[in-house]
Amino acid sequence: MRIALRDDDTCYFTSPAELERVYADVWDRVPVCLATVPFAVGYQRAGIPKSEWHSGRRFPLGDNSALVDWLRRRIAERRVTIALHGYTHEDYPDGFEFQAAPDLDRRLAEGREYLERVLDTRIGLFVPPHNALSKRGLDAVSRAGLNVLGSFISFRPSNRSWDRRTAPNWWRVRRFRRATARRRSDHFVYPHPLRYDRHAEFACHGLIPTTTYDDLVSGLDEARRFGGDFCVATHYWEVDERLKSVLVRVLDHAATLPGVRFVTADELFEPADSLADRAHA
Ligand SMILES: [Zn+2]
Repeated sequence: MRIALRDDDTCYFTSPAELERVYADVWDRVPVCLATVPFAVGYQRAGIPKSEWHSGRRFPLGDNSALVDWLRRRIAERRVTIALHGYTHEDYPDGFEFQAAPDLDRRLAEGREYLERVLDTRIGLFVPPHNALSKRGLDAVSRAGLNVLGSFISFRPSNRSWDRRTAPNWWRVRRFRRATARRRSDHFVYPHPLRYDRHAEFACHGLIPTTTYDDLVSGLDEARRFGGDFCVATHYWEVDERLKSVLVRVLDHAATLPGVRFVTADELFEPADSLADRAHA
């Protein structure tokens, strides 16, 4: 079983100290995938100055040189990996960025190219801002050949363009829902990557202020029962002492289970046998 960790919203407004505070004793156990915003526009949340909540101004990540130096070092140490988290992460009157913004193909291409250059790394994963992805948004991500690391991925064929794998994937998800005695409206996280023609998708378990240790452990145990994998997703800016202790206890629990391997988020998408080969190499 593969276990990974994702953290959202690293951007111009982030200081290395905030990430150190949460992850300095975690990333040697499991690398942290930082879903990073290349050209952040402010919105209302902790950690963004109030003066920028509605200013519409754009802040390139590269203008925060302390953060860039720090990220490059952590990436080289393999403690951190980078995913693309939108382009500006701005909110529109009629939706979030990857539901409502124009020009999604350009945003993906420019955002990825910029982060790869500034941080000297390769990016293969996309995390939608606010976990919101319209059909048009998903089409653009798929065209860009990025894999989606999401949280509330809609599997309904009506919410996505079809390729030859859409129907088989829909049946896979249905079988899982039946096997776990869930109704249509019940929340669940499908514990395997779903591969489509041009991209793959994997869903994470959120660690937010209402999440308990039992919530995450029951998600982990279910994924394990079905031979699946597991990824926790959180935001450094809302990780307090309680959330941090939930995270550490879940990692402690996972470390006691036979066959568990802590991996980068990118490795969740690799075929399982290629990882086994690497472990034996
Ligand atoms: Zn975000």
